[in-house]
Amino acid sequence: MKTILLKNRPEGKPSLSDFEFVTEDTDLKINTGEILLETTYVSVDPYLRGRMSAAKSYVPSFELNKPIQSGVIAKVIESKNENFQVGDFVSGMLDWKTKQVSTGEGLLKVDGSKAPLSAYLGVLGMTGLTAYLGLTQIGKPVAGETLVVSGAAGAVGSVVGQIGKILGLRVIGIAGTDEKIDMLKSKFGFDAGINYNTSTDIAADIAKVAPNGVDIYYDNVGGPISDAVLFNINKFARLIICGAISVYNNKEHPKSISVQPFLVKNSALMQGFIVSNYASKFPEAMKHLSGWLAEEKLTYTETVVEGFDNIPKAFIDLFEGKNKGKMIVKI
Ligand code: NDP
Repeated sequence: MKTILLKNRPEGKPSLSDFEFVTEDTDLKINTGEILLETTYVSVDPYLRGRMSAAKSYVPSFELNKPIQSGVIAKVIESKNENFQVGDFVSGMLDWKTKQVSTGEGLLKVDGSKAPLSAYLGVLGMTGLTAYLGLTQIGKPVAGETLVVSGAAGAVGSVVGQIGKILGLRVIGIAGTDEKIDMLKSKFGFDAGINYNTSTDIAADIAKVAPNGVDIYYDNVGGPISDAVLFNINKFARLIICGAISVYNNKEHPKSISVQPFLVKNSALMQGFIVSNYASKFPEAMKHLSGWLAEEKLTYTETVVEGFDNIPKAFIDLFEGKNKGKMIVKI
């Protein structure tokens, strides 16, 4: 059995030396009410970077020399809990371990015959909920409006853009390579895309593809990309602040332009979004997401990395833009 511990709190960009692998030979035993789980898929997510730091946030920091946790799909391989049978697959926040014992609390059974198991870590999991609820609850989209999405070719962004199209919006995605921009348009139906790495003036490029201005901005990245969007927002624009990956590794507070004049002159709303605040709306969101998937109005892509030992590298690669869609590790 292998476990991955947080060895150091990363300074700047995380490195492989921040993680420690521990291998134990002992057989895990379960007591009444418990199940033994074997890890099948592990989700690596940018928000885990925040939990690796000691700074206070909306979820507690990981403890040093303790296992890291994230969304995991696991198979029940032994059960002394009447709610779980051997062979069931479950999804939940679990340790980065090849095998572990659980009481089953907080775990959801997932059905691999309805969707590929990894989808429950992506479009049918936190990713899909984040995309749908951020866009609908804060973005309050109205057909015909213009939506800009940053981090557009990633897990959340690629779903946000597609939901935007389903809801009748003009959708513009911002991402880091031409290949990703092509994918946004050909696979996900975005109307236009901007490569922020090759653009010499992102604000001007947004103006060109959003001639009627920007009504909704779904922000996954923060920093200069988001500053550029501000120059294009319309009266009563809604800015959904879902994440800020461009500054997660900063050692000092980033220098940014002052947002207040843009918000005041446009009577715009900027609101931080945390998916867990909308738990009461998860059933409604899942109904829409699974319905659109079944109708083939919504699709998704994954970057699947193989092997438990590659979990830390897959996590670090998120900050290099190595993924298209959801980054998943298959064990
Ligand atoms: P992604 O799949 O989008 O992966 C990260 C992507 O970010 C990379 O592929 C890369 O794409 C882009 N990126 C990396 N570094 C930078 C940079 N310096 N500037 C701009 N883009 C960069 O991850 P998720 O979809 O899982 O998460 C997206 C965002 O949503 C994150 O900020 C995350 O923290 C947040 N989030 C928030 C939740 C909430 O409840 N608030 C829940 C889930 C996610 P590229 O090649 O385009 O640069």
